[in-house]
Amino acid sequence: MRQSFDYQTGYDVVVCGGGMAGVAAALAAARHGRKTCLLEKTVFPGGLATAGNVLIYLPLSDRRGRQVTFGLAEELLKASIAYGPGEVHVINDYAQGHQSVFNPASFILALDELLLAAGVEVWFDSLVCGVQTARGTITGVAVENKSGRGLVKGKTFVDATGDADLAFRAGAPCAVQENFMTIWAAGASPALDKAIRDRLGFALPVSSFDLDIDAAKTKIAALDAVAEVELRVAAGGVFEVAVTERRPALIWRQGEELELIDGAGRRVAMVLNRADRPDLPVIAGIGAGKAAPEALQIIAATGPLLPRMRGLVRMGERRWDLVLDRNQRILLPADNPVRALERLLALDKAEDLLKRDILTVDLRNAQRPTLRLAPHALKALRRAQGIETAESDL
Ligand SMILES: Cc1cc2nc3c(=O)[nH]c(=O)nc-3n(C[C@H](O)[C@H](O)[C@H](O)COP(=O)(O)OP(=O)(O)OC[C@H]3O[C@@H](n4cnc5c(N)ncnc54)[C@H](O)[C@@H]3O)c2cc1C
Repeated sequence: MRQSFDYQTGYDVVVCGGGMAGVAAALAAARHGRKTCLLEKTVFPGGLATAGNVLIYLPLSDRRGRQVTFGLAEELLKASIAYGPGEVHVINDYAQGHQSVFNPASFILALDELLLAAGVEVWFDSLVCGVQTARGTITGVAVENKSGRGLVKGKTFVDATGDADLAFRAGAPCAVQENFMTIWAAGASPALDKAIRDRLGFALPVSSFDLDIDAAKTKIAALDAVAEVELRVAAGGVFEVAVTERRPALIWRQGEELELIDGAGRRVAMVLNRADRPDLPVIAGIGAGKAAPEALQIIAATGPLLPRMRGLVRMGERRWDLVLDRNQRILLPADNPVRALERLLALDKAEDLLKRDILTVDLRNAQRPTLRLAPHALKALRRAQGIETAESDL
């Protein structure tokens, strides 16, 4: 520390930093009859609470209506609203919640009055910029202000700078960490964004001292909709969660449940109603999810039938039935279902086959496709051929 000073003075207690902690410390010391000064680099008291517009005085209660913090904290809470709300909308539920929303300007006035009344010598616009030590103990602090550089000696020093400036300058081990002010879930849809925040479950701001990045990554990666995740700390205290989101490609109906799955059959999320995702085709049946890639190929090959398609049903975990409106079913073979479907489409184009009263088109045997007619169509056909039908045939 520079050894020449423009002036020198001394106190019993030297409080460095005039935020809420510093004000409380200075009031306590002065009220106990100690000659006390408060050194503050800005031009008013309150620190983050006033200069930082952090204008919610968090509750002194246990949130069940029981006050658990008293003394100076309560006195300062009352001071925060002593001069009214000003232009700030006030939720003054002090009586029940033991908290306040205050106007920083009004609070500054009240803090000033308390400090003066207690006899604290307040030095505004005075930056603590060095410490003097003897035998491992702080004996004085260097202050820079309009009067030049001064040495303020003391018997006791309170480091209320919010950043441990005194401790740092005295050579105590200090660590620097980010404070995460916000989370940015890059690449996430609004639904996944919400799920990520819920899963992380921490209240911001959070210090990186308290954040286990690996554990956070594991939590997010466990979300169904997340294909890949990377976490990093970006500029300005942004905790960036970069996700690659699984895109739903199909709805898989399993009994009453509707599950969104991606093109590889991996679960993305649940949906309550089919109408929530009219853009996605429906598949059903045991093992349908595992065969999702094949289902997508078949759907892509439906061409002109697509508007009539109701869904695909996995049969015996080995092949698909393509279900159309009017209860028509196309029974596809286990091997080469797309080729079989393409052949049918060519036939349909030439013969308008599927417009007829056909219940099923069975393509399982490539050599011998079979049609099953609707009962009344079968009856009409037989009548035309002069064949009498028994009721049981219908
Ligand atoms: C984004 C955010 C939101 C928050 N929200 C709330 C909330 O809603 N409600 C709530 O109750 N709490 C809230 N908090 C917490 C609350 O603001 C802090 O706990 C509180 O302000 C800490 O008070 P302090 O006096 O320790 O520090 P600070 O308020 O940081 O005060 C430190 C003081 O020291 C001065 N100083 C620093 N270095 C020097 C130096 N070298 N020389 C001279 N002076 C110096 C600074 O100018 C400042 O006035 C929030 C905090 C953050 C960051």
